[in-house]
Amino acid sequence: MDFNLLFKALFIQSVLGLGSVVVAELVRDVYHVAGHYWQPLQSPHNLHHKAYRRDLSIVSLAAYQKAQWHNDVPEALVMVISTALIALAGGQFGAAYGLWAGCLYSLSFLITAIARSQGRLLQTDLTHKPGDLTEIPSQWSVNRTYHWRHHFDQGNAYFCGTLTFMDKILGTSLSLKGKVVGVTGASGALGQALIRQLSRQGAKVIALTSHLDAAFPPEVEVIPWRISPEGNPEANSESNSEANLEASLKDQLERMDILILNHGVNVYGDRSFAAIQASYAVNTFSTLKLTELFLDTVTKSSHKAIKELWINTSEAEVNPAFSPLYELSKRTLGDLITLKRLDAPCIIRKLVLGPFKSKLNPYGVMTAQGVAWAIVELAKRDFRDVIVTINPLTYLLFPVKELFQSLYFKLFTHSRAPQSKQGQTAQTLQKI
Ligand SMILES: [Zn+2]
Ligand SMILES: [Zn+2]
Repeated sequence: MDFNLLFKALFIQSVLGLGSVVVAELVRDVYHVAGHYWQPLQSPHNLHHKAYRRDLSIVSLAAYQKAQWHNDVPEALVMVISTALIALAGGQFGAAYGLWAGCLYSLSFLITAIARSQGRLLQTDLTHKPGDLTEIPSQWSVNRTYHWRHHFDQGNAYFCGTLTFMDKILGTSLSLKGKVVGVTGASGALGQALIRQLSRQGAKVIALTSHLDAAFPPEVEVIPWRISPEGNPEANSESNSEANLEASLKDQLERMDILILNHGVNVYGDRSFAAIQASYAVNTFSTLKLTELFLDTVTKSSHKAIKELWINTSEAEVNPAFSPLYELSKRTLGDLITLKRLDAPCIIRKLVLGPFKSKLNPYGVMTAQGVAWAIVELAKRDFRDVIVTINPLTYLLFPVKELFQSLYFKLFTHSRAPQSKQGQTAQTLQKI
C-alpha cells in the first residue's frame, strides 16, 4: 500500500469536509439574511425574535417551540438539502465523499431543532442561553454576546449563527446606527473626517474638543474638553486650579456607546524636557486616563455587547514616524493598551494609521477622509486592529508585535494582586 497516496487522499477529503461545513454555515446565514429581507420568510423568522426576552430567557415554552418548528427546523433542512446537492454534484467529478461532512453536520442541527420544537434537548441552543452576558463578543465564532446584539442592538446586522464570515463580507459585524459615539481630537483633520463617516452610518456623534472655534455639523453635539492641566503645557494658571478635568467627563462617558480616543500632539524635532513631558502627557497618559474612565462605565450586562473603545495608537507603534518623541509616547500608549486588552470588559480596537495629511503631519500621503472611511469599513468587519496605511511592513509587523507583546504581558502580569503578595503590593503603592 502506498502511504503517500493514502495520506494525500485523506488530506483532500478533510479539506473538502471542512469546506462543506463552512458552506453549510454560509447557507444558514444566507437563510437568516433572507428571513430579514425576503417577505415569505419574514413572519416565521419573526417568531424567533419574539421568543426571547432581553436576558435571552424564553417568553414561553409554547412560543419557543413554535419558533423552533417554523424557523430553526426549515433553516437546518435547507442546510441539509444544499449540502447534499453539493456532495452529489461533487461526486460526479470523482471521489469526493468528504463533501458529505457538511451534510452530516447540518443533519445534527436538523435533529436537535426538531427535538427543541418538541420541547426536548433545550440545552443544545448554545447562543440563546439565558442570563447576564459574561464575555465580550467573540471575533471568529458566534458566542452569546455576539448573537445578543442581533436580537437587541440591531436586527439588520450580526446575522451569523456559528462562524462570522458572512457578517465580515456584508460589513454587518458592527452596526453604528443609533450609537452614541464620542470622538476626541474632534477638530483635527481625522476627527472631522471620522465625524462625517460616523454620521453617515447613522451614529449620534459627540465631538470632544479644546478648539471651541472649530465648526461642526449642526447635528453634532460639542463638548469642550482639554486634558488635565498637569499634562497640558499650554494650560494657563487659572485652569491649573481645576484638578482632573478628565474625571469631570465621567457622566458624558457613561452615555457613550463608543468612545474614539484620537487626540494627540507632535513636537517634531524638539527634544527639550517640556517637549518630552507634553508628548507623554497628551499622547500617553491623558489617553490612558480616559481609557480607564470609559472602561469603568462598562457596568451592565448589555454594555459588554454594545460598548467599544477605539484608540488611535498610530503606525508609530511599529514603524518610524520621523518624530522620536511622537513614536516613544505612542508606543508606550500602544503597549499599555495591549496590557489593558488582557482584561478588557468590552471590545477595544486599535487604530493603527499611517501618514495622512493633517496639521500634525503636513506631508501625509493619505487623505484624512479616505482613512476615516477605511477605519469605519474595517470596524464594520470587526477588525480589532484597524490598520490603514500605505506601508506594507505595518501589516506584517503589527500583528506579530501585538501577539508577542500580549503573550509576554499575560505571562508576567496578573489582573489582581495574588493573595500572598497583596499586603506587599499595597505597601509598594503607599510608598509611591
Ligand atoms: Zn437568535
Ligand atoms: Zn434574525
